[in-house]
Amino acid sequence: MPNPAPEPADLLAAVRERIAHAARIARRDVEEITLVAVSKTHPAEAIVPLIHAGQRIFGENRVQEAEAKWPALREAHAGIELHLVGQLQSNKAEEAVRLFDCIHSVDRPSLVAALARAMDKAGRQVPCFIQVNIGAEEQKGGCAIADLSALLAEASAATLPVIGLMCVPPAEIEPAPFFALLDKLAADYGLANRSMGMSDDFETAIMLGATHVRVGSALFGGRD
Ligand SMILES: *Cc1c(COP(=O)(O)O)cnc(C)c1O
Repeated sequence: MPNPAPEPADLLAAVRERIAHAARIARRDVEEITLVAVSKTHPAEAIVPLIHAGQRIFGENRVQEAEAKWPALREAHAGIELHLVGQLQSNKAEEAVRLFDCIHSVDRPSLVAALARAMDKAGRQVPCFIQVNIGAEEQKGGCAIADLSALLAEASAATLPVIGLMCVPPAEIEPAPFFALLDKLAADYGLANRSMGMSDDFETAIMLGATHVRVGSALFGGRD
């Protein structure tokens, strides 16, 4: 007999327990760590059970997909907080500011300017992370470490509410040194939050200072 598919509530409880365990080892208060449940590619039917199990903070990586899924879910469930974890085009800044409660992927001056304008226009301040291309990967989003100081200065001048740094380390290599580097950069710039750690490495990220872990497949199963 194959094992039955795990219940979403059990998956959530298991991830929460792993977060609590990592926090204990790191002698950190578990309350410092926000679980962002990354629901990209998963339909509302897969999301609702997690909401019923108590999860309220979700992440999506595409504006269009979020726009299709979340207005109805928000209508039906109180207290939802939606985070954008994927790359954002400047021409979608207004939609993003309307839809999301936090943006993890600010990585260039044009986007800083577009988001600052969109927030002014909407009269709504959306907390942002600056995404750092922590492994200096050609194809990856994120600001180069060498450009971070200038980008933070632009964000500050535009009064964009930057609350921390975010990274996605290179695949298939030990992520800990990259998490440690992001933690150091955030400390150097006096930023309180670090968005780092996904299904395969969130415990390591918590031990190295993550305040926001972005967990998809450990909660929802694999994506096609
Ligand atoms: C998809 C995604 C995640 C979640 O990844 P899992 O490995 O499924 O936990 C986290 N962060 C970003 C930026 C993503 O695109």
